[in-house]
Amino acid sequence: MVTIKSKSEIEKMREACRIANLAQKAVEQAIRPGISTLELDKIAEKAMRENGAIPAEKGYPSGMRGVPDFPGSICASINDNIIHGIPSKNMILLEGDIISIDLVAYKDGFNGDCARTYTVGNVSQDAKNLIKVTKEAFFEGIKFAKKGFRLGDISHAIGEYVNKNGYSVIKEFEGHGIGREMHEDPGIPNFGKAGRGIRLEPGMTLAIEPMVTAGKPDIVQGEDGWSIWTLDESLSAHYENTILITEKEPEILTLV
Ligand code: MG
Repeated sequence: MVTIKSKSEIEKMREACRIANLAQKAVEQAIRPGISTLELDKIAEKAMRENGAIPAEKGYPSGMRGVPDFPGSICASINDNIIHGIPSKNMILLEGDIISIDLVAYKDGFNGDCARTYTVGNVSQDAKNLIKVTKEAFFEGIKFAKKGFRLGDISHAIGEYVNKNGYSVIKEFEGHGIGREMHEDPGIPNFGKAGRGIRLEPGMTLAIEPMVTAGKPDIVQGEDGWSIWTLDESLSAHYENTILITEKEPEILTLV
């Protein structure tokens, strides 16, 4: 069921999303060669807790037998690790890496979710372009995040833009509704047919998140049961914001 948020619920979404973005900025400032992804995790958690939020990803159930709940406060995914990288003191950033940070702040009953891919020192022009296209794909998608359009219009715009630029979207993971739960209906694929799917209505809050690889779209799961990697070891990037559908333009709640 797709939930329509009330005015007071939207205010709570705004606050959770504001804090999620603050935590991203704290992480961004700390990124440098030599820092571990566990240190970034602690920085994000501190930023959230100082603002009265908790990191919603910590303890998130895997839903798979034998795979523990997610141990981190953030997902920290380096280079060909697309998503769900587990922060570790052994994962040290190196000059030339790119790193995707996906985090969710939970406060007063609501979730705010955003992801960015950052550069570590000097990175290749190819890596920079991948990050740029992934971010642009989000903005292409939300051109259709308006009352009267359908969900498939967003998905189609993202997928077309990525493909046009010679990259691939991964198909096994997708954006989602968000609110009291981190993952609510609807699922929002990064590909699809325009003019299909539910009609967008004011009060919907959605996490739109292109996950893009420079090579083929095939993925492989890491031995930890969480991390998702490109099969061909090509670089990957991720860009996500929580948005609010309104009567006019969408509001990007995690960019405030
Ligand atoms: Mg996320």
